[in-house]
Amino acid sequence: MSSQELPPGWEAQWHAEHQRYLFIEVETGQTQWEPPTQAYGDPESQGQHPPEGDLLSPGTPSHPAHAPKKRQYAAGQSQAYYGTPEPSYGDFGGGAAGGGYYGGGAPGPGPAGGAGGGFFTPGLAGEQQGFQQQQQQAPYYGQQPPAQPSPSGAGGAGWYGANPSYPSNPLAGPPGQETYGAAAPGAGYGQPGVGALADQFSQMGMGGQKPFALYTTNLLQTPPDPLDLMKPPPEIRLPPGASATNSPYANADPSYTRCTLNAIPTTSSLLSKCKVPLALVITPHRSVPSTATNADGEPLAGVDPADEPVPIITDQVIPRCRRCRAYINPYVIFIDGGSRWKCIMCNVSNEVPAEYDWDRTTNTQIDRWSRPELNRSVVEFVAPTEYMVRPPQPPVYVFLLDVSPAAVQSGMLATATRTILENLSRIPNTDGRTKVAVIGFDAALYFFSLTAPANPAAPSAAQDEGEDGENAEPQPPQEEPEPEINMMVVSDLDDVYLPRPNDLLVNLSESRKPLESLLERINDMFASAIGGIPPGMQGAPQGPSAMGPALQAGYKMISPIGGKLIVLSASLPTLGAGTLKDRDDPKLFGTTKESNLLQPAVPFYKTFAIDCSRSQVSVDMFLFSSGYQDIATLSGLPRYTAGQTYFYPAFNAARSEDAIKFAHEFGEVLASPIGLEAVIRVRASRGLRMTSFNGNFFVRSTDLLSLASVPVDQTYTMEVVIEENLSVPFVVFQTGVLHTSCFGERRIRVVTIALPTTSSISEMYASVDQVALATVLCQRAVERSISHKLEDARDAVTNKLIDIMTAYRSSMTAGGAGAASQLAIADNMKMLPVLMLGLLKNTGIRASSTIPSDLRAYAQALLTSLPPQMVIPYIHPNFYSLVDMAPEAGTVGEHGIIMPMPLPLTSERLVRHGLFLIEDGQSMFLWIGRDAVPQLVQDVFGVERYDLLQSGKITLPLLDNDFNQRINAIIAKTREMRRGPYWPHLYLVKEDGEPALRQWALSMLIQDRSDQTPSYQQYLALLRDKVNGSGY
Ligand SMILES: [Zn+2]
Repeated sequence: MSSQELPPGWEAQWHAEHQRYLFIEVETGQTQWEPPTQAYGDPESQGQHPPEGDLLSPGTPSHPAHAPKKRQYAAGQSQAYYGTPEPSYGDFGGGAAGGGYYGGGAPGPGPAGGAGGGFFTPGLAGEQQGFQQQQQQAPYYGQQPPAQPSPSGAGGAGWYGANPSYPSNPLAGPPGQETYGAAAPGAGYGQPGVGALADQFSQMGMGGQKPFALYTTNLLQTPPDPLDLMKPPPEIRLPPGASATNSPYANADPSYTRCTLNAIPTTSSLLSKCKVPLALVITPHRSVPSTATNADGEPLAGVDPADEPVPIITDQVIPRCRRCRAYINPYVIFIDGGSRWKCIMCNVSNEVPAEYDWDRTTNTQIDRWSRPELNRSVVEFVAPTEYMVRPPQPPVYVFLLDVSPAAVQSGMLATATRTILENLSRIPNTDGRTKVAVIGFDAALYFFSLTAPANPAAPSAAQDEGEDGENAEPQPPQEEPEPEINMMVVSDLDDVYLPRPNDLLVNLSESRKPLESLLERINDMFASAIGGIPPGMQGAPQGPSAMGPALQAGYKMISPIGGKLIVLSASLPTLGAGTLKDRDDPKLFGTTKESNLLQPAVPFYKTFAIDCSRSQVSVDMFLFSSGYQDIATLSGLPRYTAGQTYFYPAFNAARSEDAIKFAHEFGEVLASPIGLEAVIRVRASRGLRMTSFNGNFFVRSTDLLSLASVPVDQTYTMEVVIEENLSVPFVVFQTGVLHTSCFGERRIRVVTIALPTTSSISEMYASVDQVALATVLCQRAVERSISHKLEDARDAVTNKLIDIMTAYRSSMTAGGAGAASQLAIADNMKMLPVLMLGLLKNTGIRASSTIPSDLRAYAQALLTSLPPQMVIPYIHPNFYSLVDMAPEAGTVGEHGIIMPMPLPLTSERLVRHGLFLIEDGQSMFLWIGRDAVPQLVQDVFGVERYDLLQSGKITLPLLDNDFNQRINAIIAKTREMRRGPYWPHLYLVKEDGEPALRQWALSMLIQDRSDQTPSYQQYLALLRDKVNGSGY
């Protein structure tokens, strides 16, 4: 829907997760899901309606009159099974919520801030226009709808129209054939030309940008609205002309980089006064959906620009600042008639290389203004040889497979090998250089020679290996006509060696046949050794497990090249290096000693990780134990080697749900395009310095992060120190990721974000990005829980909130009568308390005496690595009522499946005849009330009555009715909408079913009081008392 179709004063913002437009009244910031029918402040348009259908996109809610027929499932129930005429958000029919926190009625589908909870911030009237109207409403710092070209693209078809072809894959054609410079005239934004250069100067430093207006919300009167989390961060308001090209894509999409403050304080004293940490959240290697491009890798029309592949610059001209080494970017200033550029970070002027405007390959002029690095905040340069210390390494994957009885009997080994087999063609191998190896381990190590034998009659050559070979016992080949598999057993675990150093790590393409043959047979080989117990029969004793020696062997094999060790283990390591003990002690849970269980038990995994990092070896851990596995210790290896930990507690492949989840996640990891041998450095404008880095990497020197691999969709955070007062109108942060692509090229991904500076504390508060801030505070809390105690980490979270709100109260609000009954916070931060309450209730941090250490440690690994779009639901889950969701929910809209409206996270919304979905991105719960009518049970589950339903992990059947199909669609959408490899389990939770499962599901309703944690109301009361009691 374009803005021309809207009444004046309205904008439409496409909301990908909900697959519908959010309508924003620009003047007031009011948001709503229904298409607006009148212009703001235009009384004459009262009652006028636009032509029917004109405003309605396929994805927008229908007018009540068009709602499909309701279907009554129970006589006397006021709520229909589905198809309420109004969007269900806030439509809480019964009186169950009466007298509760939400008082006389839940917020309706109107303004996001709702219910008059806002009050005006005194002393700021000069900055606010029309505040009389605005004070009732939440502001909305709207952005352009992503799919729409910006007005600044006027004067041409815009970037996409004129030059849609990014050579996303440099192998698609020789470099230079698809240079950007060859674009037709009109390709770039704004076509600045010489005159524009002057414009750029004249507008610099004039501070022409609109100031932020701050709106204060009284939290005590404003219940949290989950829709607030779906708004974009506060707008980044740069001075006009800040970017050399005026491209709407000159600033980074929040999915790549976001900052806790979208207006940077000019002094460090101002920063410390506001108490909000200044920190960056970067996800430089975020995934892009394959559906965003056509078969040639070109972006499809209508795709969210953030989802487009990153433009690749192949001409090897990489202008960098000679002083600070920043890469050229949209914010540089061209001077001296365009022959020099001034670095925006350090002000030094640099020469523009002659090649910058001239394509040497085709001998044609390049239009500088269409160069992606001057138009796009995220680009990738193909690096010339000076960026290499050695030729680009090939992708290398070594699978360390637990072949112990526990691994066989849980079905882990069979599922793992089948998944590798099925994904061999998805493993990055474009240039045919990818190498693989398989090492098995239980009480011994098993190596497999995978070279296709030139002479099939020749058996193993292991006997010829000299002194190292004496412990290697070649196994007689199996009696099949398939390629032979030479397995060598090494049982000396103290001094691990490779029995055949040269043909264990093989080329994936050349040795595909023997590899396939091995993967098909390896499970049977070890299953027969334990008496042929069929997979899925749980109960085999754990171990013995020589996982540490297996890691050492894998390291030995690939350390000259680098690459990935992928460990799949079903037991605690019990033999050789890295042996761990079962130290889990429930008596310590909930005590001050509990954090000891979250610290590494032995130094091996950290020191080994440092060796790995130095040799460009990254480790992923897939852990499956039915008992304690010491994830706290093992996860250190992925953490410092830029890998990831995956956990499948009590895995049993006999349950198809377990097999599907693991196979999906493992398959996605195998198929994902990784970067290798990487270093990340973030540069910033003079006066700013990066410090306190968090995430999965190794800090090599003060600010250089070393990553043996760069997985997609992992997030890193770092704090920013203001060392000198800032006298510039805006600052720039630039992330450079030097890496080897899995296509065999050395590349530099550059992500640039520009942010205005401010000396106004109110602007700072108004610019807080609460999602970025919550992401940073999650990482900090976990770090503190390990370095100190869990309790300290929890206290620090609450104290940070109190600090921020106390500072806010003293600088932004008037005290006096009634102040004690208020709890004030900037409107754009009003979800922060509920997010922090969610963090305090997350498995990783929660005060509890019943959480096994492995579950805690795994949750902590997620909290410190997930990108914002996944960590936010992980601490603040989504909760939907399915019986009364809007009729379009679960159907296919303009851009995919339309999701229902999220409800506040309180069990007050649960009703006995209802069906609800609660999900946090890692698990999903279908909660069904005990009075659910038989027709509903039949329609959704294909089962006659409620009492016949079985709680637990389920796969929802696909039935021949509309309601079932809509719920299936919502579940499928939930699993795919956030990027990343995760495949959440679906659990059926009966209201009167298994207590532990019920409790788990209900623990996601974080506004309720639970266990040892307060309800949201109680938490606010605590905050209010601290904030108001602290004086100002
Ligand atoms: Zn510079």
